[in-house]
Amino acid sequence: MNEEKAHLAGLSLSELADFVKEFGEPPFRARQLFHNLQARRLRDFDEMTDLPKPLRARLADRATPATLTVESRYISEDGTRRLLMRTHDNLPVETVFIPEERRDTICFSSQSGCPLKCDFCLTAQLGLLRTLTAGEIVEQIIIALNDAYGVSVEPPRGTNLVAMGAGEPMLAFEPLMQALRVMADKEGLFIVPNRVTVSTAGVVPRIRELATTLDRPHLAISLSAPTNELRDRLMPINKRWPLDELMRACKDFEKSLKAGERFTFEYVMLDGVNDSDEHARQLAKLLNRYNLKAKINLIPHNPAESLPYLPSSMERIESFKRVLAAKGLHAFVRRPRGRDIYAACGQLAARRVNAITQLPIVQRA
Ligand code: SAH
Repeated sequence: MNEEKAHLAGLSLSELADFVKEFGEPPFRARQLFHNLQARRLRDFDEMTDLPKPLRARLADRATPATLTVESRYISEDGTRRLLMRTHDNLPVETVFIPEERRDTICFSSQSGCPLKCDFCLTAQLGLLRTLTAGEIVEQIIIALNDAYGVSVEPPRGTNLVAMGAGEPMLAFEPLMQALRVMADKEGLFIVPNRVTVSTAGVVPRIRELATTLDRPHLAISLSAPTNELRDRLMPINKRWPLDELMRACKDFEKSLKAGERFTFEYVMLDGVNDSDEHARQLAKLLNRYNLKAKINLIPHNPAESLPYLPSSMERIESFKRVLAAKGLHAFVRRPRGRDIYAACGQLAARRVNAITQLPIVQRA
């Protein structure tokens, strides 16, 4: 992949129009290209048979629809799929496809690796390799859709997206918002922001910025501790933006919620660390002090041998949930998906696992 080539997957229709103009082609070519790239999800100019062959050759010289390559693909016993990909500069990118009863979900990455050093997360151990481009974000969705349903096949029930893969999406704010704009186009993927949830470890200025963004995605906040003392230890980002600042930003964000919309707090349940009834009372106190009307997702920790934590027992989680309920707070327990293939929350660390379910890549995704 040549660095100088234009990456077309991250361009909106109007940006493609500019590209086509510079290329000396008539404007309708932009619409054709956008349709091929985003609606048909084609990743090779040669498959765009409505374009004249010489034009395809000229395009291939100057631009590319595909910068990511799929290195391996793992399928969990629960049907979850993890795609391990490489960027043109050989960095790992992971995307997880989660089949669900109502509507399937794609969990995508915003960075290769992650700069935040959350103590319980495997991705943290990679450090930040680099922030992904808008094109690399859109490509992940295209590849995951093609892999799950087949090239050009419409997802039967639409798709939800969650920015909960590797990286901190709020530190990839511009490319992320650009990708969301491109994906929302009804002539293309047509995945509107209302179907997208962005999760943050608590980058306060970006939470405030998101609140003022038109057609914004939903927000989830990774909390995982009810006090600064504990959160400083588990999530060092708390030293930069401590709980009171984070809660005030959440309170302000509430003003931007639409009718029926709630934001979510995620709370990773770590055995013997943040999961006692006392922690639940502290959490309730914190959220009630700000009168925050949020859902709480309790995530049983997904263990790995290099992480010094174990998941809380189901009984412990249920007890934690009961304490919250008694204080008027509703919590849900997130069922772990794809743990066996390192696809679950906090497990994306470009692992190559020797699972019998690993399938060879026989066709280009
Ligand atoms: N950086 C963003 C986006 C990642 S979302 C954020 O922190 O929100 C990934 C979610 O998985 C976060 O809520 C994170 O707290 C959680 N997580 C990290 N490691 C985990 C683990 N080992 N087990 C369960 N959840 C984990």
